[in-house]
Amino acid sequence: MKLQVVSMGELLVEIMRENIDEPLGVKGTFAGPFASGAPAIFIDAIARLGISSGFIGSVGRDDFGKLITNRLKEDGVDTTYVQSLDNYTTGVAFVTYYSDGTRQFIYHIPQAASGRISETQLNRDYLSGISYLHIMGSTLSINDSWRRLCYRAVEIVKNSGGKISFDPNLRPELLAIEKIREICEPILSSCEIILPSGEEVRMLMGIEDIDRACRRLLECGPEIVALKLGEEGSCIYTREGKLKVPSFPVNEIDPTGAGDCFDAAFIAGFLKGWSIKRVAKFANAVGALAVAKKGPMEGAPYLREVEKMVGFGES
Ligand code: ATP
Ligand code: MG
Repeated sequence: MKLQVVSMGELLVEIMRENIDEPLGVKGTFAGPFASGAPAIFIDAIARLGISSGFIGSVGRDDFGKLITNRLKEDGVDTTYVQSLDNYTTGVAFVTYYSDGTRQFIYHIPQAASGRISETQLNRDYLSGISYLHIMGSTLSINDSWRRLCYRAVEIVKNSGGKISFDPNLRPELLAIEKIREICEPILSSCEIILPSGEEVRMLMGIEDIDRACRRLLECGPEIVALKLGEEGSCIYTREGKLKVPSFPVNEIDPTGAGDCFDAAFIAGFLKGWSIKRVAKFANAVGALAVAKKGPMEGAPYLREVEKMVGFGES
C-alpha cells in the first residue's frame, strides 16, 4: 500500500534539564531520553492522527536508536528506510529552558548517525505516489549530503505527482542567514505549503513586517503560507486572502515540538479535504495539546483527543 506522507531528516534523543534557568555548563540533573528531531516529531504526530506515513533517517545501533525507532513503529510510522549504523552513535541534543521562554542547546547531530544519509535510503518506488513529502530547514542545515538527498527526494515526489510541504524551522545560531536563504530556495520554489513562524518568514524574506513578508512569500511559489503564531494561534495566507484563526487556551508546559505537531495536523486536515478554516482550527488544537505536556514528542495527541478539543461536527 502506498503511504500518504513521508518525511526525512534527523532522528535524535533529547536530554533536558529538570529545573529551569540552569545553564548546561553547571552540575545538575537531567530528564530523558525523549525521542526527538523536528521531522521525527512531525511524522509521529501525523501517524497518531491516523495518516499512513514513513520516515527516512539514521540512528546508531544503540539503545537511544532503539528508543526512537520503537516509538515511531509503535505509533504506526513505517521505518523501512530508517537505517541503524554500526559506526555512529545516535544523535543527542541537551537542552535547558529559561524563565523568559528561551532555550539553549548542545547538539551532537552532524557528527552522529543523525548526520548520515545514503543514496540507498532514497527508493524511487517508495517515494512515488505519496501525497506529501515534508521537508524541514533543520535537516537542510545539517550537511551537504542531507541537502542533496532532500532536493533529490523533492524531485522524485514532484515528478510522480506528489506535493511538498516545508517548515523552514531555522536555527540562525547555526547558520548565517544568507546560507539559510540559499539552501531553502530550491524547496521554497517547489513547495505547495510552507509553515513558518513569524521570525522565520521575516528572516527568509528579509522583510520586517510579517504580514507583508507572508504575502511576498506567496509570490515565491507556495499556494499556502500557514503562519504559526504561538499562543495567538495561526494565520493562513492564500491567493484569496488571509484568515486569522485563534488558538485554544492551554497551560503551556513545554513549547518544543508544537510547530512540528501543527505542521502534521495541517497536512492531515488538508488531506481530508477540509476547508482552510477547519484545517487551521484542527492544527491549532494539535499545537495547543502539544505544548501541554513535557517532552518534545510526548504531547503529540491522538485523533480522539483533538476531536474532543475541537468539538465534533464543527467546521
Ligand atoms: P517550534 O519550532 O518551537 O516547535 P513554532 O514557532 O514552529 O515552534 P508555535 O507557533 O510555537 O510554532 O506553535 C505552533 C502552534 O501551536 C501555534 O500556531 C498554536 O496554534 C499552537 N500553540 C503554540 N503555543 C501555544 C500556547 N501557548 N497556547 C495555545 N496554543 C499554542
Ligand atoms: Mg518551528
